[in-house]
Parts: sequence; C-alpha cells; structure tokens
Amino acid sequence: MPINKQQIMPTDQPLDLVFRRVAISGQDQPQDIGVKGGKIAAIAPQIRCDAPEIDAGGRLAVPGFVDSHIHLDKACLLGRCGHNHGGLADAIATVAAMKRDFTEADVYERGARVIQKAIGKGTTRMRTHVEVDPRAGLRSFSAIKALKADYAWGLDLSICVFPQEGLTNDPGTEELLVTALQDGADLLGGCPYTDTDPAAQIERLFTLAQRFDVDLDFHLDFDLDPSWMHLDEVCRRTERQGWGGRVAIGHVTKLSMVPPDRLATIGQRLADTGVGLTVLPATDLYLMGRQESHARPRGLAPAHLLAEQGVRCSVATNNVLNPFTPFGDGSLLRMANLYANVAQCGPHEFEQCLDLVTTSPARLMRLDDYGIAIGNPADLIILDAATPGAALAEIAEPVIGFKRGRLSFERPPAQLNMSVARKPAGLLD
Ligand SMILES: [Zn+2]
Repeated sequence: MPINKQQIMPTDQPLDLVFRRVAISGQDQPQDIGVKGGKIAAIAPQIRCDAPEIDAGGRLAVPGFVDSHIHLDKACLLGRCGHNHGGLADAIATVAAMKRDFTEADVYERGARVIQKAIGKGTTRMRTHVEVDPRAGLRSFSAIKALKADYAWGLDLSICVFPQEGLTNDPGTEELLVTALQDGADLLGGCPYTDTDPAAQIERLFTLAQRFDVDLDFHLDFDLDPSWMHLDEVCRRTERQGWGGRVAIGHVTKLSMVPPDRLATIGQRLADTGVGLTVLPATDLYLMGRQESHARPRGLAPAHLLAEQGVRCSVATNNVLNPFTPFGDGSLLRMANLYANVAQCGPHEFEQCLDLVTTSPARLMRLDDYGIAIGNPADLIILDAATPGAALAEIAEPVIGFKRGRLSFERPPAQLNMSVARKPAGLLD
C-alpha cells in the first residue's frame, strides 16, 4: 500500500517507545502511538522514528480498564468462612465476624492477590472501598495504603474509606474516618441502609466531605423495593452542597424494578444533579431476589440506558471470592460482558458497554488525564480484538499492558497442538 507522506509524522524529539498499527476507538484506521517520558507524545498513522517498537498488528488498545468500585480489604475470604450464605445481611454479618481478626499483613496479602490479577487483566485505575470502624480499626486502611504505594507501577489506586456497619449507630467510627481522611484517604464512602438513621448518616457524610474537600461514593438502594429510595435524599443533598460531579451511588438495584417513565425521570434527576451510578453485576445478580423461589428478577440497574441520558455510569467488580460474591478473576471486561448479557444488550450497544468499564468510570472518578491522547500517561492495554464491539463480545484477552510507558504484563497466546498423536511431555504415559 502506498504511503501518504502527509500522514508520516517525523518526530523532532527521540521517543522511548512506539506502538505500531494500533486500533483506537473513534479512529477509522490503525495509528502509531509514540511514548516519551511515560506519556503519549505522538499519535499518527505512521510515526518515523527508530525507537523500540511494539507491533499491535491492528489490535485494539484501551487506556486500561477503570474499576470504580471494589473491596480489596475483604476479598479472598472464601477459604476461612462457610460457603452457604443466604443474602446481603448474612454476608455483612459473616464478614463483620471475621473482620476483628484481620491483620495488616493479612489484608495486604489478599488485596495484593486481587490487584495482581486485575493488572494482568488490563485494569490501570481502581477505587477501593475500605471498611473503617471499631472492629477493623485502621488496620485495613494501613494495608491498602501500602498496596497503593507498592503497586503504583501497575495501577493508580484511590482509597475510599466507609462505615459498612453504620455510622450514627457505631460509636467511634466517625473519629476513625476522620483520622483516615487526615492520613491519606482519597474520598469518603457510605452505606445508609445499614444505619439505624440513614438520613443522618447521609447528612454526616456530606458534612465530612465538605470539611475535607473529598468526593463521596455511597452503597445505596440495594434491594428490589422501589416504593422508597435514598437516592432522592442524596440528590437533594448533592444539589444543596454544590457537590455535583463529585458523588456516586453504587448498586441501586431498586432501579431495575421501576417502569420506563419513572426510570427516565430518575435518570434525568441523576444527570441534572451530577450523581454518578455504578452497577456491580456479579454481586447484584448473586444477592438480589433471593426471596423468590422462581422467576427471580435480575436486579441490575440499567446503566446503559441511564448513560444515554447523560448519567456518569460504570460497571465494576465490587467483591471477589467472598460471601457477597463467591466469584471473581479481576477482569472488568468479563464484568462488562456479563452486564451486557444480562441487560440484553445487542451488538449495536457493545461499544457503549465497553465504555462502562473505561471512559465512563474515568469520568465518574474525575480522572482528567485518562484516555489515548497526547500528553496523557501512556497507559495502554492491547486486547486481542480489532474493534471495541469484538473485545466486549469475546472477552478479548489482554495481550500486553503498559502503565506510564512501562511494561506491566504480557500474556503469550495459547499454543495449540493440532497433532492428535502428540502427548504433553511427562503426562499420560
Ligand atoms: Zn461495594
């Protein structure tokens, strides 16, 4: 194919690395991406330079998956508790009983296991919730801070401290949250449904968020009764404080039970007030509707419909291998695929579903430097697919990943053995 010289970008500065033939969402032909000093320095159909090359071969690059909601402190607990859990209240009680025995080393080790998997599955940004209360003290928080520092080479970790078992009913919790906010927590979470006074908890958390100038992220409306919602109070409070764009709500499974006209009204309210919404498919599907013996509702808030109304939405992991969710491999692409499948999204909506684990959570988390654009960090994950839709449909393998221009993982393709006669060495003799 003749090369159009207009499209060749000579670089006046030496590049550290160049990615060749990269498919990028929104571009109709593959691009080269030049990296300098950990940042994206050039994007053009062909970059002339002699820097080391990574040939993507027309595969899609994403700027990494953005996990806006996970709980590293209570991940990987299945081995130490029973496996027969009844529902949400039981899961909270089970973890609460184990939490007193969490040590810093224990939380660090379990969290590291999940972070390592997530990096290998292409996650480059993550917001973890951390339980802070008189049972956990600040031990889990300290462990997560250490993980944030130790794994900064692979992902940016944002720490959201929150009162899982209530705030106004749990003396000492607020003081611990304040200490954490003074000592490196990035934002504040909430869980009004476990508080004996949910409205008072919402009020206290907004006040604290103002005092420390941090964002808020609530666990909210996590059942299937649409006759009342804490969402209304959060929207009111967000408006009053001028906190639009800085508040997110997670689960909100009640929204799966409202008819389209009411959903549209709520969506408009969320968009107007700047309250973002996170769906946690693995947990929501596992815990919701358990009171039904059959014909169970799916219990997933329709994030893709709300996103069309301008709501900042995300699909995220939540829990991994614990009583809330006894599944998990750290793959956000798998989570987006699960969401699309359960929400009955068709191929014309697949790219939008991929946005729910990339650009949309980046907006929800206010990550201004996210995206494949000149000047942004060179966070680049190459997926074994040519288009966003194919990546979503096939849960395409992430084949290689870079964080700030530094190699963070490689996944060699499977080597197929077409010879029936050949046996693997050392086995089946
Ligand atoms: Zn959660």
